[in-house]
Amino acid sequence: MTTQLDPRLLESLACPHCKSRLVLSSDQLQCQGCGRVFPIERGVPLLIESHTDDHFDYLQHYQKDAEIFDYFQERPSGTAHEERRLAEYILDELGGSDSILDVGCGSAWVAKHFQGSGRFVCSLDATLINTAKAIERYPKNYAAVVAVAFHLPFSDRAFGSIIASEIIEHVVDPAAFVAELFRVLKPGGSLVITTPTKNSFDIHFAFTAIRTLRSTRTFTRSMRR
Ligand SMILES: [Zn+2]
Repeated sequence: MTTQLDPRLLESLACPHCKSRLVLSSDQLQCQGCGRVFPIERGVPLLIESHTDDHFDYLQHYQKDAEIFDYFQERPSGTAHEERRLAEYILDELGGSDSILDVGCGSAWVAKHFQGSGRFVCSLDATLINTAKAIERYPKNYAAVVAVAFHLPFSDRAFGSIIASEIIEHVVDPAAFVAELFRVLKPGGSLVITTPTKNSFDIHFAFTAIRTLRSTRTFTRSMRR
């Protein structure tokens, strides 16, 4: 049986290794450049860039994390209130683009928010557990991929808005991460980054990189307060 993928997702996808076009055949995606093949499980393409054959071990590592912490579980009211405030802040800054990329989607609240709005949301996460759950819950105008933040599996300028909430403090090279976000952002698009960590040297360096990049593109910088 051939897997169905949202045409807007197919249009924006690119090989995480060589950035060539990916073509859907049966239940997998194949790169037209380097020939790599990427599986699709439960409607979610697994686009992990890998130079070795151990990529499933890598994936399992992150899946274990998702098993330990259930992002979909209801939070205690204090935490829920804090999360709601942050969500409202992000939505205020997001802009009106038709295509939204949510990097590090967690409970996929962005997809939930935009269900039925006609705006296309793509969630990216390192685990199949979160993304597959999200696809089941939010089937409209929605797609999800499993990928690594440093090798986004999208063509240049694929999205009009990008959210990276509470993730920059977890990546090993924040400046490289931000540069990769800018690569897939449309000119004039909105990039919303939030972090609870304000004093890290690496993050400070990443925002210096943003100031350099913004000279060519409009963006929104958001810091959680
Ligand atoms: Zn390729």
